[in-house]
Amino acid sequence: MLIDSFNRKIDYIRVSVTSRCNFRCLYCMPNTPMDWEPRENLLSYEELFQFLKVAIDEGVKKVRLTGGEPLIRRDIEKFVEMLRNYAPDLEIALTTNGYYLPELAEKLKKAGLNRVNISLDSLQRERVRKIAQKEALEKILAGIDKALEVGLGVKLNSVIMKGVNSDEVVDLLEFARGKGVTIRFIEFMENSFAYPELKRFSSGEILAEIGKKYKFTQLERDNSPARYFQLEDGYKFGIIEPHKEDFCKNCNRIRLTAEGYLIPCLYFDEAMEIKTAVRQGDLERAKEILREVVRNKPEKNRWSEGEESNRRFFETGG
Ligand code: SAM
Ligand code: SF4
Repeated sequence: MLIDSFNRKIDYIRVSVTSRCNFRCLYCMPNTPMDWEPRENLLSYEELFQFLKVAIDEGVKKVRLTGGEPLIRRDIEKFVEMLRNYAPDLEIALTTNGYYLPELAEKLKKAGLNRVNISLDSLQRERVRKIAQKEALEKILAGIDKALEVGLGVKLNSVIMKGVNSDEVVDLLEFARGKGVTIRFIEFMENSFAYPELKRFSSGEILAEIGKKYKFTQLERDNSPARYFQLEDGYKFGIIEPHKEDFCKNCNRIRLTAEGYLIPCLYFDEAMEIKTAVRQGDLERAKEILREVVRNKPEKNRWSEGEESNRRFFETGG
């Protein structure tokens, strides 16, 4: 079992399978060239699998595939299948911008994927085009429907930015409720790659928007990064607020980048490389590195202190 020095059990790993993406979201990588990551630097699926077997044997119960955009890496469903065959009880989830879900949802479900988190920042076509720098709303909506149709668990994620989509909080909530899925509103996290004019719309402001139309109560917190609330009709929604003091208290996760860096916290730069050990077939060394990264996991991020991170969300997977 992996326990960090603050007594948190680490049983969840988020794996970025590529830093590349077909979108250029304003809050993530608005100015990044389309084709910058040399492919030979990436861990192959087989190499990722070798490492994840070690992590699963050490007690990891949940793997989330993310990116960049995980669905642009070829044969992603085959990778899901490798994990599923190794660990029938593993929870396998994926975070996606949704664009390729109409084509891939069924294959992913058959390969053994349990759930998808789909990013949806606006229901207005022009706005999505502005935020993602891609004509994408129709494909995202079709992707949500397809994922539901094939029986994947679905959650929606919306990053709320002041004056960009902050007037859509209630619309997004009602859309998600209509589909019967949970939505989580994410506070914009300041980082040096984002479009510099972006302003956070705080969790308090998001709740105030919802409060203009609905009454809700807060639910007891579990180890999810979100705080959950319930409307009077029973519908549940969440807010992810990394700026809050207690955000990291129950953190149970670490991250692996596509290039083989193991990162203890989304905010932090301290990372250790597992690629060399895996390429040398030295899985004992890979296990030692995993244990060391868990041991060195920081107590909390520094967004609550008003700092900006140099972390590239498209490398760490958000
Ligand atoms: N491409 C996929 C997607 O967009 O869902 C997966 C990778 S993305 C980096 C993972 C999550 O991070 C998304 O929900 C995205 O909205 C969120 N994200 C990216 N940059 C962010 C930022 N600066 N603040 C808050 N959330 C961010
Ligand atoms: Fe791509 Fe996701 Fe980043 Fe948007 S948030 S640019 S979809 S990786």
